[in-house]
Amino acid sequence: MFKVNENYLKLPGSYLFSTIGKKVNAYSAAHPDKKVIRLGIGDVTQPLAPVIVDALHKAVEEMGKAETFHGYAPDLGYEFLRNAIAENDYKARGCQIEADEIFVSDGAKSDSANIQEIFSLDNRIAVCDPVYPVYVDSNVMAGRTGTYNSEKETWSDVVYMPCRAENDFVPQLPKETPDLIYLCFPNNPTGSAITKERLQEWVDYANKVGAVILYDAAYEAYISEPGVPHSIFECDGARTCAIELRSFSKNAGFTGVRLGFTVIPKELKCGDTMLHSLWARRHGTKYNGAPYIVQRAGEAVYSKEGREQLKGQVAYYMKNASYIYNGLKEAGYTVSGGVNAPYIWLKTPDGMTSWEFFDYLLERANVVGTPGSGFGPSGEGYFRLTAFGTYENTIEAVERIRNL
Ligand code: PLP
Repeated sequence: MFKVNENYLKLPGSYLFSTIGKKVNAYSAAHPDKKVIRLGIGDVTQPLAPVIVDALHKAVEEMGKAETFHGYAPDLGYEFLRNAIAENDYKARGCQIEADEIFVSDGAKSDSANIQEIFSLDNRIAVCDPVYPVYVDSNVMAGRTGTYNSEKETWSDVVYMPCRAENDFVPQLPKETPDLIYLCFPNNPTGSAITKERLQEWVDYANKVGAVILYDAAYEAYISEPGVPHSIFECDGARTCAIELRSFSKNAGFTGVRLGFTVIPKELKCGDTMLHSLWARRHGTKYNGAPYIVQRAGEAVYSKEGREQLKGQVAYYMKNASYIYNGLKEAGYTVSGGVNAPYIWLKTPDGMTSWEFFDYLLERANVVGTPGSGFGPSGEGYFRLTAFGTYENTIEAVERIRNL
């Protein structure tokens, strides 16, 4: 008789966004006359930029002719894309990353979930709390997290690093030494950013204790302040302790197109074993490459017109972010984020729990956000709103909240 991977059964209850979806659907069914504005899920709403649509069309035409047809893509990605990434995202910022250290993929969710496979099950992970749920859940599925404490909503083998207002939503170095450290900046869900000095402390720490930092920079395009690093490879010594995960989802609207990449420097080693070789092996065995047409669209992101058009798209969302941030602040809420990230993190008023505030906003303002407690125990008492709606809906949502 077959057996299932019992680690899957250890995952607690339903996934955050399905619970939200059920609640919103039930509310809408009971109140069909109400217009519900969704500022919950972090999905983009603006259409693809013209330069990307053109690149997709052109690549589709190529695929339709024998002379220019492309079959399986190279395991690690086409050189035209890896060169564009190395030049624009790294060399232009003074980071020493070569094209052959870049692995093209279908996005940062799969890479951030899969990267743990190349590490021993004995490794201990550390995560920010609150955190993007994929990091912990993928380690639970692998059997690396110990037992679940349903009261505290924590795993026994995971090092949680609280990120609250007292520390500007950036974690302190942990007391217990982890082996794998997940950091995400600009952060989902808190919208906080890390300064280069603080990130350098993490790099120095990881090199000292022999840990690897898994650095998720999916929101890099939203950085607006100087002094905030766009890549962990801006820090000295990162080549021996860091892996960086990037996505085209939020900088170029590719959530439905799917493209991302992971950078593993060749100096990152465990003894004589390069992590680069292990990931190359994993990629080669389990992944057959991002589609040619999508990689051509990715290349267009780095063209002159691409950069200009996408700057406009990011600015559109960040105008929403500052509208939410200022509107709620004026209304007396304690808010953070929204400056280097498309997320606004607010303290729930009057001691409400995150889910109480969710229900209150849904029922009284018909606005949907995400309860902070869904991202980890330190998210309790907080609430996330995203800037990914349309400008008109964002204004209306803020007005409704202000009028409560
Ligand atoms: N990493 C973080 C922190 C995210 O918030 C998200 C998406 O919301 C992702 C990764 C997923 O990115 P992708 O669409 O490339 O899979």
